[in-house]
Amino acid sequence: MSEKDIVLDLQNLKVRFETEDGVVYAVNGMDLKLEKGKAIGLVGETGAGKTTTALALLRLVPDPPGVVECDKLELNGQDVLNMGIHDLEKVRGKDISMIFQDPMTALNPVFTVGDQIAESIFLHENCTYAEAQQRAVEMLELVGIPGERATEYPHQFSGGMKQRVVIAIALACHPQLLIADEPTTALDVTIQAQVLDLMKNLRKQYQTSLIMITHDLGIVADICDEVAVMYAGTIVEKGTLEDVFNHTKHPYTEGLFNSLPNINDRKAMLTPIKGLMPDPTNLPEGCPFHPRCPYANEDCKKPQVVRNISDTHYVRCGAYDRPGFHIERKER
Ligand code: SF4
Repeated sequence: MSEKDIVLDLQNLKVRFETEDGVVYAVNGMDLKLEKGKAIGLVGETGAGKTTTALALLRLVPDPPGVVECDKLELNGQDVLNMGIHDLEKVRGKDISMIFQDPMTALNPVFTVGDQIAESIFLHENCTYAEAQQRAVEMLELVGIPGERATEYPHQFSGGMKQRVVIAIALACHPQLLIADEPTTALDVTIQAQVLDLMKNLRKQYQTSLIMITHDLGIVADICDEVAVMYAGTIVEKGTLEDVFNHTKHPYTEGLFNSLPNINDRKAMLTPIKGLMPDPTNLPEGCPFHPRCPYANEDCKKPQVVRNISDTHYVRCGAYDRPGFHIERKER
């Protein structure tokens, strides 16, 4: 991929929180490149560092207690890392936008939904407030809400409708990159499917690149082109959907797949990954997965480098070099 095709270039992101109870190492050397128009799923258990990574991309990590270090953070060729606050505010919402997990807290209860969409348009586009309000009505209709409801307040909408409003705000200025942080977790299953379909269609329509943060591999399979599996603040495996789903190489990714229910055998026992995510104030030496990994040996207690499997697929696991090593994926 040439530089002009890249919407996001993140290199060696580290985020720690210096708290009274110790230093929390949330993100520990994260690299991510995303091509224009592509969607990547950032998957992993709670506490893997997915949301902190997203906040760091928007430069929204609270400081203090957060400390962010990074070699490069470029959005569409713009150096976001060293940008002044004035330029940064122009970039947020216009070039990069985020949909948060809970629509109930993402909307301001004292403003109408129309005004909340219009405000984003008015701040970023060269238009009058009346034009922004008209565009807000069009955005509402685009996400399947009648335009006349623009004068209503968030409490007059259901959870699924509120998340549609949040999507309308996020897409109002046609951002280059949209980050969606578990956007359907707070919704009923049937509404989840509608919201995901809506996101899929709007993304195609606007050619928006997407980072989908989720622990749901079904959502990734449905909406993403690529997958990055995160564990303890680093990407342990990254590749296309085909690479990661059909040619799994990391033991943690294997554990995620093996812990899914087997739809062909409803009586089959679930196989969870044993143990818990490590304490981020006291990460294990070397590979952070080694206390839980069925393939661990003494070498795993040393730092692990990335092994490239193909142009599109890499893994951070020393076992990949062992003769005869292969991953055991169960039939699902
Ligand atoms: Fe398991 Fe070792 Fe690979 Fe880590 S480096 S995933 S502990 S085999």
